Order: sequence, then structure tokens, then C-alpha cells
Amino acid sequence: MTDSLFPDLEPVQTPDRFEGMGHDARRTARQADLIAAGANPATRLPLHRDAATDRSGPGLRCRDCTHLYRTGAGNKDFLKCEKAGTYNARGSWGPDVRAWWPACRLFESKDQPE
Ligand code: SF4
Repeated sequence: MTDSLFPDLEPVQTPDRFEGMGHDARRTARQADLIAAGANPATRLPLHRDAATDRSGPGLRCRDCTHLYRTGAGNKDFLKCEKAGTYNARGSWGPDVRAWWPACRLFESKDQPE
């Protein structure tokens, strides 16, 4: 028996599928979920129609995009997407980008002449 006066209004509890995982592992799992759902984890936009479909096969990836840049902090540097800050909800610089991530629909080839 529940102690609540309104047991039907208790929030539904769902199992935490990330339980026991560390912060980095959770983030990696969420990013993998986004890719599996057809979105790029940096911009969270749908993937480009010619994006890579797996981690090692052919197709467009962030590494080939002109919007990917390297920035540094201390002794480390990180890959960022100049479009991610625009599109993520918090307006931050966005997550560190993995070069192998499949390209989103904002992809522009860095090999194109200016
Ligand atoms: S494809 Fe380009 S614009 Fe899209 S997330 Fe990757 S680096 Fe950013």
C-alpha cells in the first residue's frame, strides 16, 4: 500500500538503462542513440542523405566538413562544430565532436573551392 493520498497521480517510474554507468559512458550511449535514430549528436539534426551509415564504411563524415574546427584548452584540444552551438538547446559550443560521426544535413565539404 502506498502512503500517497493520490496514488494514481504518482509519476511512472521507468528503469534507468544507464544505471551504473559513468558520466562519459552515459554521454557516449546517448550519442550512439542519436546516431541510431538518424541524427548527428553535435547539431542533433537529421543526417545528410549521403552520410556514412556505420563507423568504418563509406559516406560523409564530420571530418570532411568545413564546419569542423579544432580548439584548445590547456594541454588538450577538441573538435567542435561551428553549427552545433547554434542548434543545441543550451546555446553552448556544443559537444566535443568525433571526426567519424556521420554528417548532418548542414554538411559542407571542406574540399569545395571558395
Ligand atoms: S557535418 Fe558539419 S555541420 Fe554537421 S555536425 Fe558535422 S561538422 Fe557540424
